[in-house]
Amino acid sequence: MSTDVHNVLIIGSGPAGLTAAIYAARANLDPLVIEGEPSSTSDQPGGQLMLTTDVENFPGFPEGIMGPELMTNFRAQAERFGADIRTEKVSRVDLSNRPHRVWVGDPEAAEPTYRAETIIVSTGAQALMLDVDGESRLLGHGVSTCATCDGFFFRDQDIAVVGGGDSAIEEATFLTRFARTVTIIHRRDELRASKIMRDRAEANEKIKYLWDTVVTKVNGEGSVESISVENVKTGETSDLAISGLFVAIGHRPNTDLFQGQLDLKENGYLITEGKSSRTGVEGVFACGDVQDDYYRQAITAAGSGCMAAIDAERWLEEEH
Ligand code: NAP
Repeated sequence: MSTDVHNVLIIGSGPAGLTAAIYAARANLDPLVIEGEPSSTSDQPGGQLMLTTDVENFPGFPEGIMGPELMTNFRAQAERFGADIRTEKVSRVDLSNRPHRVWVGDPEAAEPTYRAETIIVSTGAQALMLDVDGESRLLGHGVSTCATCDGFFFRDQDIAVVGGGDSAIEEATFLTRFARTVTIIHRRDELRASKIMRDRAEANEKIKYLWDTVVTKVNGEGSVESISVENVKTGETSDLAISGLFVAIGHRPNTDLFQGQLDLKENGYLITEGKSSRTGVEGVFACGDVQDDYYRQAITAAGSGCMAAIDAERWLEEEH
């Protein structure tokens, strides 16, 4: 246990957290990064890019780069400037007094593990998954949760999108730029998506619909070859030959630690003030997908991580 007060403690190690670490380290703030433990998707060190394959839209890599390799580079760059990165999972925070207090391990322990003047929250979000056989095995090999990232790989192919909300319809519409056909698979017979999005999709000849249908299995050895589906009204089952399955049933921000302590939007995402990374609590900043329910890109997360480090640095200057 360390009772030293750190200048900057960063929770989370995706593009946002590690960019914040690079900037804070280069500002001589000796940041401590609690990167999470590789035991669950919500604490995945390196964030969501660790679950993808090729990343072709991150500037600076004209040939593309594998997601895990990109995050290894981020981490090495942060460490090069002295960021202290620990493979631990935060179990509790107390942001009610300064310095702020952070626990790893036993959340009931009387003393916190760390104290910090500023906290940068970059705990990310996770795409909700179907939790069916074959889905996690083929994630990054035909199963995707990001059309912007992976649509390009499905040129002239038959693919499917699961979900009936705005995300699913937006992704399906976007994917028709590449794919030959996009089948929207929805568990009901009516879309949840807004009228304007529905109208746009209905006017698109490449989009087909499978109503009242759920995916029960993703089939394929090294990559997706087909999916098994079931009509929830008739019980009828069949296989659909596709090479890509985009799961667009919503995201969940990793904000459990901050319930009751930081202001959250109705959908659970952290609220930041204006264009800054400031939360409603002094000395606490947020960046990346945990506060972004709109762009959700690695590059925007990285940009917001830079903002959080600069905001923290300026806040520390003003306080001391
Ligand atoms: P959402 O609105 O919660 O929709 C999720 C969809 O996935 C619903 O159709 C739901 O079915 C379905 N679903 C949920 N769990 C499922 C499961 N286990 N198996 C099969 N289907 C499942 O999520 P979203 O589409 O990601 O949108 C989130 C928010 O962002 C919304 O407020 C949306 O308006 C907003 N958004 C806006 C835009 C835009 O304006 N351009 C774009 C994207 C998102 P049911 O309908 O049966 O519940």
